[in-house]
Amino acid sequence: MDNCIFCKIVKGEIESKKVYENEKVFAFLDIYPASEYHTLVIPKKHYENIFDMPEDELLEIMKVVKKIVDLYRAKLGIENVQVINNSGAEAQQEVFHCHFHIVPRGKGDGQDIKWTTHPEWQNKFDEMLAKLK
Ligand code: AMP
Ligand code: ZN
Repeated sequence: MDNCIFCKIVKGEIESKKVYENEKVFAFLDIYPASEYHTLVIPKKHYENIFDMPEDELLEIMKVVKKIVDLYRAKLGIENVQVINNSGAEAQQEVFHCHFHIVPRGKGDGQDIKWTTHPEWQNKFDEMLAKLK
């Protein structure tokens, strides 16, 4: 896609710090890192988000996520990691080329991701599941 920053990274038109690539997948350091080795894993082909990704390509992405977390553990001793995908603007997606964040976590890293819980949904579990039938 012409105006997509991550497509440009894949094509080498914009510089990136590559961690890994294969035929279908590219991984590079996030330019605004939340932690040391914060990494993005993306399909080389443009898909907007997880809804658009064909299952087989998504599996290729997840294989690379696994490869990288294992590499980080083996080489760096990283034992704590958050793997995050934001799909859609309301889900805080900012770059609309599908990507998975690998965010290594450690004591004193200055991060604290906590959900605001909404227990009122507990009363609606049965109703919610009924809608899926
Ligand atoms: P998201 O909110 O999930 O769409 O996250 C997009 C991520 O892309 C952010 O963490 C940005 O720091 C990162 N990002 C944006 N532009 C670049 C770039 N040129 N190189 C590396 N990472 C980038
Ligand atoms: Zn793209």
